[in-house]
Amino acid sequence: MPSLPNWPAATDELIRHLQALIRLDTTNPPGNEIVAAEYIAGVLRAERIEPVVLESAPGRGNVVARLKGRGDAPPLLLFGHTDVVGVEPQFWTYPPFGGEIHGGYLYGRGAVDMKGTVAMQLVTFLLLKRCGESLARDVIFAATADEEHLGSYGIAWIARHHPDLIRAEYGLSEIGGYPVYVKGRRVFLLQAAEKGTVWLKARAKGKPGHASMPHDDNAVAHLSRAVERIARRGLPFHLTAAASGFLDGFAEVAGPGVRLLKNPFLERLALRRAIPDESQRIAVYATLHNTATPTGLQAGIKHNVIPSQAEALIDGRTLPGFTTGMFLEELRPVLGKGIEIEVLQESPPLEARLDTPLYAAMVAGLRRHAPDAVVVPYMMSGATDAKCVAPLGIQTYGFSPLDLRPGDDIRSWFHSHDERVPLEGLAWGLPVFYEVVRDFCR
Ligand SMILES: [Zn+2]
Repeated sequence: MPSLPNWPAATDELIRHLQALIRLDTTNPPGNEIVAAEYIAGVLRAERIEPVVLESAPGRGNVVARLKGRGDAPPLLLFGHTDVVGVEPQFWTYPPFGGEIHGGYLYGRGAVDMKGTVAMQLVTFLLLKRCGESLARDVIFAATADEEHLGSYGIAWIARHHPDLIRAEYGLSEIGGYPVYVKGRRVFLLQAAEKGTVWLKARAKGKPGHASMPHDDNAVAHLSRAVERIARRGLPFHLTAAASGFLDGFAEVAGPGVRLLKNPFLERLALRRAIPDESQRIAVYATLHNTATPTGLQAGIKHNVIPSQAEALIDGRTLPGFTTGMFLEELRPVLGKGIEIEVLQESPPLEARLDTPLYAAMVAGLRRHAPDAVVVPYMMSGATDAKCVAPLGIQTYGFSPLDLRPGDDIRSWFHSHDERVPLEGLAWGLPVFYEVVRDFCR
């Protein structure tokens, strides 16, 4: 018979590993994630688990380990990145690489993004072995480099060069499994979709000339009008499965008015009425529309010269089900006639299914430990490493369970000063995560 974990001891272990990881500076660039990979490899070896340490480039360390199952089903992949974004230490209350604990929070760069989750995955992986769980499927754990900068030295590199190390049916990674408070009630977000990106340049052309002789065919003026239209009008409404599930769950706590958001004709009006919180409203809007955000303007060579062209940088984000071509078809009429579009970079949107046994296990796990809570699928408007494993057929959910108090604004901790994680919330999340992985894999 497998044994049950000792939760207080396991929580202490999680906190110890998280502190150790925070104290290893893996700011990317340059990354130097090898120090984190070696640390994790040492922990695994001490438990007689043999990891694979891979350097995609000097210093860019990745570590992968596997617990063998009976092979009755394809593996489950737990993955996370060990690099972090830079800091401005002068703005921190406590040292960003100190891993200090104050007032119930553990402070440090990576506390939530995402060394906390990596430590939780590591401890879960160790507990499965120690408790003698008999697994129907392999559990793979990968702690990888370079999510925060170029993205080419971490999980994407493994997917390309060593796909068999991480091939799995499902993946669990960052962003999701934590609550937002709506009317005092916890609504847990389970990330099941993420938007795609289309970064493009919009270019207007016109007639050059001397600025003292103004005319109507001015590229700067053409471009300005196009940018103004895109910022004011936005793009059409679309309801995806993840957004629909989100609105149904959200309506349970926020009130039936939220359901009006599913109606393309009422959506914009309903958004203002049903979701008074501005940051929640902006996030919900982004799950119902492809978006195109002007982020840069470039024109002009000299103060008294009318230039022959003007360019705007536009950051486009696409909903699941949309190709870049479909997105451009929506964008073109808003930009208007005569505006050229040049796509610079793109990545596809992702949507994991909501009717899988793993999704059901995550919902059940959260409900068991938070009986009063509502669990909803959630679409992230940014991008994660989930995109890098999707080509291997891996469906990834963002699931790193963490409980929060009403005043905890987790979104304001990511990439910010005083990044921190509540210890009670971690202690709550560890058994949730462990039980979901165990119950799904045994
Ligand atoms: Zn992250």
